[in-house]
Amino acid sequence: MSPAISSTAYLVSSVLFILALKRLSHPRTAVRGNLMGALGMLLAIVVTVKIAIDRPDISGSGYWLIGIGLAIGSIAGAIAAIKVPMTGMPQMVGLLNGFGGGASLLVAAAELVTKTHEEGWSAQSDISFFIGATFVAGLIGAVTFFGSLVAAGKLQELKWVPNGNIIPAQQLVNGLLFALCLGGAAWATYNPAMQWLFWPVVILASVLGVFVTCPIGGADMPVVICLLNSYSGMAASATGFVTKNDGLIIAGSLVGSSGIILCQIMCKAMNRSLTNVLFGKLGTTTGGASSDDVYKGKVKSAGPDELGMLFDTARRVVIVPGYGLAVSQAQHAVRELANALEAKGVEVEYGIHPVAGRMPGHMNVLLAEANIPYEKVREMDDINPSFAQTDVAIVIGANDVVNPLARTDPKSPIAGMPILDVDKARTVIVVKRSLSPGFAGIPNPLFAADNTLMYFGDGKKAILDLVAAIKAG
Ligand code: NDP
Repeated sequence: MSPAISSTAYLVSSVLFILALKRLSHPRTAVRGNLMGALGMLLAIVVTVKIAIDRPDISGSGYWLIGIGLAIGSIAGAIAAIKVPMTGMPQMVGLLNGFGGGASLLVAAAELVTKTHEEGWSAQSDISFFIGATFVAGLIGAVTFFGSLVAAGKLQELKWVPNGNIIPAQQLVNGLLFALCLGGAAWATYNPAMQWLFWPVVILASVLGVFVTCPIGGADMPVVICLLNSYSGMAASATGFVTKNDGLIIAGSLVGSSGIILCQIMCKAMNRSLTNVLFGKLGTTTGGASSDDVYKGKVKSAGPDELGMLFDTARRVVIVPGYGLAVSQAQHAVRELANALEAKGVEVEYGIHPVAGRMPGHMNVLLAEANIPYEKVREMDDINPSFAQTDVAIVIGANDVVNPLARTDPKSPIAGMPILDVDKARTVIVVKRSLSPGFAGIPNPLFAADNTLMYFGDGKKAILDLVAAIKAG
């Protein structure tokens, strides 16, 4: 394939990626955006494979290897897309970030090995640039791969994934590891004969990836996921410079920059700075009031019939979904509830917290799936002032994002995070299975508030029972 054709094809796929990103910014156009992105990726893959098989140094076994790689990737991707449940998507996104970083690292390593076997490689004019880009891809790729494995493990709530520092003075060690990695990369860039430092740098960066991600937990996970997503893009972009692949440079830059933008949005939503997330005291779940202190003798619960009567006089209801909505797949039941209430003349709106669920936009996707009108789905800042005029706030499977401790306890792991002010509504109904904590692992005084009624049960079943009670009443 001529360079002109491949460059044009990469340009077309890059334009498709940009248009895809634009369309992904709104639920109405997101499906089309996704398809455009997939089309751009298909085009980039076809061109890359064609360039690879045209290479004079690739023959029989090389073709087989390319074919086997494509088959394994395609089958694994298709199986994951079909089998992984909606609740497993955040972990899958975490793993995909990691695979992106890992792939960049491996491609950069392969190019380094190939190049250093060429005759007179160290005298080539652009060798310093090549070595520098290879080290950057290796460093970021290794941090992304191992950091993402830890993050995916945390999202899967695997008990053996450490949720805190692993060794004493870990932050200091992290700084040292980073300095050593940078030093190694700079030294090899300056003196290409030191290219063997690639492997020690990758090992140190792998440890760094684990050490940096382990202590981050609780409500800060969304920021880490976005950051790792951004890193995977940066690693891909660096690999694009290594392989001189324009498509990879552009696609990597798009992922890198959109990941950073999302990271900033998440930090703002949580009222945290990135430095604070990365170097603050995070994931701390000790020291606060115990569940017994918060709940004992104060929690009131009610069943569907009793709750159904509340809506006889209600004029305005706000539904607040959280991770439990995704677990119980209650989005269609929620739509039925809204229909039943609207049929009685009640105004129904939805309040979405930016970090509700386990991935950015999680709740919006679920509500869109149930055809809930977009104009009724309101963002936190927009809906918060209206809770004081709300008769009933129905919290379905949300916990951290409505936890008033964020306002009152400066030692809480979610301290300072803006929350949905459901406690200001006249009555709050909280639908969940028990008094178990949410992702941040802390009790929630909302459940014991005077104006709160707990409605224990699986989200979907509880809402369907409530709809039946409203219709019967
Ligand atoms: P939380 O994790 O705080 O709480 C979810 C609640 O859902 C639990 O308390 C659980 O209680 C309940 N639940 C679980 N299953 C069901 C079910 N079948 N039916 C009814 N309820 C159920 O969720 P939030 O959405 O409030 O907050 C999100 C948290 O996740 C934040 O801390 C956020 O920082 C973090 N996070 C967010 C990410 C993002 O990108 N959005 C990424 C990673 C983490 P019970 O077991 O009693 O039913």
